[in-house]
Amino acid sequence: PVDRSAEIQEARLKLPILSEEQVIMEAVAENPTVIVCGETGSGKTTQVPQFLYEAGYSSDGLIGITEPRRVAALAMSQRVAKEMSLSQRVVSYQIRYEGSVTEDTQIKFMTDGVLLREIQKDFLLSKYKVVIIDEAHERSVYTDILIGLLSRIVSLRAKKQQPLKLLIMSATLRVEDFTQNSRLFSVPPPVVKVDARQFPVTVHFNKRTPLHDYSGECFRKVCKIHRMLPPGGILVFLTGQAEVHSLCRRLRRAFPCLRGSARGTEVKVDSVEEMRKFKKSRGKKGPVALPRIDLDNYSVLPVDEGDEDRESEMDEEEEAVGSDLDLDLGDGEAEEDEKPDASLPLHVLPLYSLLAPEKQAQVFRSPPEGCRLCVVATNVAETSLTIPGIKYVVDCGKVKKRFYDKVTGVSSFRVTWVSQASADQRAGRAGRTEPGHCYRLYSSAVFSDFEKFSPPEITRRPVEDLVLQMKALNIEKVVNFPFPSPPPMEALVAAEELLTALGALQEPLQTGRLKQLQGAKLSCPISPLGRTMATFPVAPRYAKMLALSQQHECLPYIITIVAAMTIRELFEELDGPAASEQEQAQLKGKKARVSQMQRLWAGQGASLKLGDMMVLLGAVGACEYSGCTPRFCEANGLRYKAMLEVRRLRGQLTTAVTSISEHAAGLFVDPKMKPPNEDQVNFLRQMVLAGLGDHVARRIQSEELLDEKWKNGYKTPLLDDPVFIHPSSVLFKELPEFVVYQEIVETTKMYMRGVSAVEAT
Ligand code: ADP
Ligand code: MG
Repeated sequence: PVDRSAEIQEARLKLPILSEEQVIMEAVAENPTVIVCGETGSGKTTQVPQFLYEAGYSSDGLIGITEPRRVAALAMSQRVAKEMSLSQRVVSYQIRYEGSVTEDTQIKFMTDGVLLREIQKDFLLSKYKVVIIDEAHERSVYTDILIGLLSRIVSLRAKKQQPLKLLIMSATLRVEDFTQNSRLFSVPPPVVKVDARQFPVTVHFNKRTPLHDYSGECFRKVCKIHRMLPPGGILVFLTGQAEVHSLCRRLRRAFPCLRGSARGTEVKVDSVEEMRKFKKSRGKKGPVALPRIDLDNYSVLPVDEGDEDRESEMDEEEEAVGSDLDLDLGDGEAEEDEKPDASLPLHVLPLYSLLAPEKQAQVFRSPPEGCRLCVVATNVAETSLTIPGIKYVVDCGKVKKRFYDKVTGVSSFRVTWVSQASADQRAGRAGRTEPGHCYRLYSSAVFSDFEKFSPPEITRRPVEDLVLQMKALNIEKVVNFPFPSPPPMEALVAAEELLTALGALQEPLQTGRLKQLQGAKLSCPISPLGRTMATFPVAPRYAKMLALSQQHECLPYIITIVAAMTIRELFEELDGPAASEQEQAQLKGKKARVSQMQRLWAGQGASLKLGDMMVLLGAVGACEYSGCTPRFCEANGLRYKAMLEVRRLRGQLTTAVTSISEHAAGLFVDPKMKPPNEDQVNFLRQMVLAGLGDHVARRIQSEELLDEKWKNGYKTPLLDDPVFIHPSSVLFKELPEFVVYQEIVETTKMYMRGVSAVEAT
């Protein structure tokens, strides 16, 4: 018996899924796997776990629900707890570093990466009675893998007479990849459709499609709606964080909502002094000779050891922000901003993945009396979160995605048209509470050229992390895994090659050509080193660095470098579109200050050679030294939220590494860290090289300069075209002979980011 408030009860009864409760529960009782399809907002995420709870599925086991996004796992667990009048001890969540799970937990929301890690510890997931894979239509990589694994786990559990129920929930009806895939489910699972009582949404296409300035077009459309149309919230879809902020600023200026908000607080630069102190605590110069690290001296996981604290870093949100490498999205704001009109207040809120959770939660609250709500969002608002009271949707029709080259792994952020399915999802957000309108800022002809559906993520990105995780589950022949959509063969081969080069896989017995011909390369078992690497919640290249890190007391430094490299967007975006000339000038000043700090952090001599990794080390050290305050971060162009994540990840990685290494056992890692001495810096450079060994580039010699364009360029083994050190790198002007890089991102040129100099040997 669940005790729901009258208000909740009333809202619930309006949800279309409620009339399907019996159908869904019968299907679940009679089948091991059931697929539930229903429009976003029909009640799948909040209600299905409650149905299962009331039917007793959590009386002696857990009901688990996976979400592709952390935002959703957190928000939905809170919502369901509230609806059921239960505490977060019972309806809990678990995301990468944090959670509210207790021994009383019966319903557990988590990211898909978290469940994948749990499968590694307990393949049968014996704690669970039901697993719900939510948002399956998004086809996130981990969702796809989980479905493949769960298809096996469900039949194993059936054989053991301990049935596990699997529910797959999707916002679209496009589920053939799950139902018509006999390798996945030999008996196609039944599909329960929930008829959404969706109100009609009138779709308005633009006559013409703006070529560049879709952000300006959004602004004009929102102004028009706000001035002329009846009450009702507005939801705007843009592609990235900088655009979202810029439009929010513009709208707030046009329609001020007088709430006495404190924005634009001044920050003074007291950090240079703090940095100097940090630098002073550095040791004297060490000897000049270059001692070597021992590449065979890595930590190995004791057999069968599971590390309780390790979590997953795989629950990254989909929406990576391209920072200063973004395409030029300047939206010429100055051109025609209207006079502020305080008689028509608009409550403007941003929404994107990297936004702090407290700020994200604001969109669920009612706007102030007499204000219209306007949420300016990225793709996150497309399906996972239902914002109440939206009547108008303004859709720019674009999405920012990262594209990878299958062979070289070079990536670029591109803004492309969405799929027709996504555009329809976006339009649907307008018809949840009453009939609504969707304004598409492109023509119907352009729409008809959109692809119908976007291809699943797993077919579009490198898979070395997945392959390592799967090998750690003893799935040796990854090619034979029942993927809902298999990754391309090139990607699997590239992953296997990288993992072999890193020493994570055992070399196949046959040598030479033969093994390639026989495809033996695609079924190498994991090595002891690989097993260790798989326990670290970071990508294989970084895991290799960690495995080597207990030598020469380098552990705290490598952990910090890896943590900082893994967290996206450590440094603030300072190239974004500015609202005014004054803001522009402020940004410019800040940029100069920040790059001055970065040069200071990088230091000279050996430490400068460590390059951008040294900057990361210096940034984290200085930040902790100052107490990691928002103020310090703001002054130094660091994202406060990212710095907190680095801190947490450092703690987590320290536990993960120390739990497998006797040398490091019981090691206390001081968050403030003394800076490394010169010898250590040289060891660090070798450890970085050991992980990034396939990411080497050599400076193009003057005699090879066939083309002026190649000046200051580098050659890499895989690419014909030259690559360049990104201007934001501290090595941009140094131009070392050999470098390793964290990644290559293509914008106007192919740029290496995260660069460190290496010695030719
Ligand atoms: P689905 O998973 O099918 O997209 P949900 O279960 O997420 O649907 O949402 C069902 C309804 O619950 C939505 O109409 C939404 O307005 C409401 N809802 C969800 N989360 C919240 C929240 N945090 N606050 C208020 N209402 C919410
Ligand atoms: Mg949902």
